[in-house]
Amino acid sequence: MLDLRKRNFTKAELVQMLSEEDPEELDILFDTARTIREDVQGDKIFAYGFVYFTTFCKNNCNFCYYRKSNNIERYRKTPEEILATSKELIDSGVNLIDLTMGEDPEYRREEFNTVADIIRTIKKEYDTPVMISPGVVEKHIIDKLAEAGADWYALYQETHNRELFKKLRVGQDYDERMNAKLYAKERGMYIEEGLLAGIGESSQDIADSLLTMGQMGAKQVRVMSFVPQEGSPMESCQTPDRTEELKIIALMRILYPHALIPASLDVDGIGGLKDRIRAGANLITSIIPPRSGFMGVAQNTMDVDEGGRTVEEARNILSEMGLRIASKEEYKRFIREEMR
Ligand code: SF4
Repeated sequence: MLDLRKRNFTKAELVQMLSEEDPEELDILFDTARTIREDVQGDKIFAYGFVYFTTFCKNNCNFCYYRKSNNIERYRKTPEEILATSKELIDSGVNLIDLTMGEDPEYRREEFNTVADIIRTIKKEYDTPVMISPGVVEKHIIDKLAEAGADWYALYQETHNRELFKKLRVGQDYDERMNAKLYAKERGMYIEEGLLAGIGESSQDIADSLLTMGQMGAKQVRVMSFVPQEGSPMESCQTPDRTEELKIIALMRILYPHALIPASLDVDGIGGLKDRIRAGANLITSIIPPRSGFMGVAQNTMDVDEGGRTVEEARNILSEMGLRIASKEEYKRFIREEMR
């Protein structure tokens, strides 16, 4: 095993670590990542509330349940419903509201004015940071969302291999997507970049993604395992072994000690939390109130109505690990002062 604390790894070294299978060596990898997290933030773990407010989308990503061609039931929540759910999540103890949407033509038609109003309310009346995941939008819309007070712009390439991107995000432009988030960064928003594991990528592709995420200045970096979606062209593809995702989380932590790295409840529900936190994740995402009628992305209903994806459940699990959910003030201080 390489010296894991040196951090400035070459692509070849990252590929070597991604191919590691020896359980003892993998334990060293996860222990190192976890120790780095503890050095930076002690026993605090952050938590984001997830509000997927419209499941309409004009795109046809091959891996996605909500792709336009999939004949599914969809919803578009009202501003009142979005705000009520956001408030419920904030009161339960989340540090940020993640407002996520498909590329819904309806919001484009009205130039995102409703979304901007919702962001303003969450920021001013609920005093809570906001992440917006609107898909690819034009510069003047990014300006509007930044001015409304959005702290984060999340937009995932899912792969940084252009050929694979073309196959996954059918009919979409790689550079347009990348440039939208770079512009959001220019406008003062933090950006989140993401990759999917198990969608036909090589270890070289993952190493490229890990390095690109740092070069582009992403402060939040996420990996999620691909989960096959009913009715999509990739319905019969296999979901990968989770070790891959855990290795990537650990390498992200080692490369970027101050980054926000999610343990998403969207892949394996609350049952998948411990492993991801053990691998070095410092943030729980996809917390959704039970019986709210809101869905997840990769596992649209898993653990939602049963109340598995709540702050309370996460708090219980963290406490068994000697960890705790950070307060909103601690989160704000982290992004202001410690996240470099
Ligand atoms: S991944 Fe996003 S942009 Fe692609 S089809 Fe799904 S909701 Fe639409």
